[in-house]
Amino acid sequence: MRALCWHGRGDVSIDYVPDPIILEPGDAIVRVTATAICGSDLHLYDGVVPTMEYGDVLGHEPMGEVVEVGKGVTRLRKGDRVVVPFVVACGSCFFCKRGEHSGCDVSNPNAHMALELMGQSPAGLFGYSHMMGGFWGGQAEYLRVPFADVGPIKIESGLSDEQVLFLSDIFPTGYFAADLCGIEAGDTVAVWGCGPVGQMAIRSAWMLGAGRVVAIDRVPERLRMAEAGKAETIDFEETQVYDRLMEMTRGRGPDRCIDAVGCEAHGMGSMDAVVDRVKTAVMLATDRAHVLREAIRCCRKFGTVSIPGVYVGEVDNVPMGAAMNKGLTFRMGQTPVQRYSQQLLAKIESGEFDPSFVVTHRLPLEQGPEAYKTFRDKKDGCIKVVLRP
Ligand code: NAD
Ligand code: ZN
Repeated sequence: MRALCWHGRGDVSIDYVPDPIILEPGDAIVRVTATAICGSDLHLYDGVVPTMEYGDVLGHEPMGEVVEVGKGVTRLRKGDRVVVPFVVACGSCFFCKRGEHSGCDVSNPNAHMALELMGQSPAGLFGYSHMMGGFWGGQAEYLRVPFADVGPIKIESGLSDEQVLFLSDIFPTGYFAADLCGIEAGDTVAVWGCGPVGQMAIRSAWMLGAGRVVAIDRVPERLRMAEAGKAETIDFEETQVYDRLMEMTRGRGPDRCIDAVGCEAHGMGSMDAVVDRVKTAVMLATDRAHVLREAIRCCRKFGTVSIPGVYVGEVDNVPMGAAMNKGLTFRMGQTPVQRYSQQLLAKIESGEFDPSFVVTHRLPLEQGPEAYKTFRDKKDGCIKVVLRP
């Protein structure tokens, strides 16, 4: 089959690789019909997650049709249409039973190494290297899905691929981020990053009772999409974020702050531009927690800082003193997607919410390498790419 494979930093290509086969009784094979590129893929693309190997298949936001199931699978059948959550979870360990699927004790045999040595996910993740279980990703024609009775979300209504695809990751991730905030009715929620995750966090904050949502980024199309989601916006290149947030909240600061950016700001524009390369390098070396620091600084006393943005390894310069003395609550994590699957599918089915608004680019899988570049560099108004194998 054809698949998008990682060859090195900034280098992905379409390769011919063996078709996946059933390896365990609980596996299913899915023929992928739609598959998205995520900000988390950019950490691999940019080489920030250092555990990819040449030829690894990328992608963790897929959906498609079940074409084969293992002997042990009872919930799925050939022909079922499914969305596949990015977190691989066994469904029966201590953590999965608590709805903490992204802490699954079983799905990643390298959990100890991933977590203790590299500061990475203890649960298996699709398309996220051998350190995270070695599962090939879904930017491919076919995908092997382990624990097929646990993760895949069956789609039985006539919704389009784009309406349900983001149940794989960014919709539950944005919702989880807002949920972790513990929003009280009327709260002001500030969201750093208007990428796909930030966009979903903005809409989710409203669903969970926010009274005001402020969104921060510098990419005009992304700020406009945040405004369409009824957020007030701050362009961090034109305006001092701290000053503006204080002005907006009469000096108190937002009640809830969401860092939907993470360890590296991909907002640095074209990587081909020397100036931007230097800025990125400086940011990587000295300032990996820039957004987190700003959120801690801005958040009101006894407020909550929620962190869906991905951090890996150790991060310097986090003002713990201010956080402690302000009485802040920190909540974060890789999303336990499975916990939210049914309730968020219901929101889409009922027409309450349609996540497909975020899609700006639709391309065949073959154009994956260009799509990565366009998405990373935020060119052509790119906010979310859907690839069709
Ligand atoms: P993205 O790269 O498309 O978006 C990030 C946005 O942040 C960009 O629009 C960029 O311009 C903006 N930004 C950069 N620096 C900023 C700053 N200083 N202030 C405000 N905005 C800034 O990525 P995405 O797909 O939206 O994902 C966002 C983050 O969420 C990534 O770190 C990704 O890995 C993470 N993520 C986490 C989970 C999870 O389970 N927790 C799931 C999916 C994605
Ligand atoms: Zn993702």
